Amino acid sequence: MTYRDNPEIAKKYKSKRWQKLRHQKILLNPFCERCLKKGIYNSAYIVHHKDYITDKNFEDDDVFFNMNNLESLCKDCHNKEHFAEKDEYIFDENGDLIKNE
Ligand SMILES: [Zn+2]
Ligand SMILES: [Zn+2]
Repeated sequence: MTYRDNPEIAKKYKSKRWQKLRHQKILLNPFCERCLKKGIYNSAYIVHHKDYITDKNFEDDDVFFNMNNLESLCKDCHNKEHFAEKDEYIFDENGDLIKNE
């Protein structure tokens, strides 16, 4: 089963618990953490899971809802992260489809 075929993952991204945690993370790190290291202030666009969410681990709340597993990223850094290795990532952290532009 691929990520694309797993609506349970998308459902989790739509959950109140995730929305709340995501919001907390953005409040904590309103700027892209990677750009900030280079001294650039870019607004965070997405809350990324450092340990990617997959079919195998998405049910593990210690991974999914773990603040330490989250990183605030701008759109560019997030695209670089996921598409650098040509991984097939279909949903972003909002549960929306990612298009490889
Ligand atoms: Zn960035
Ligand atoms: Zn991500």
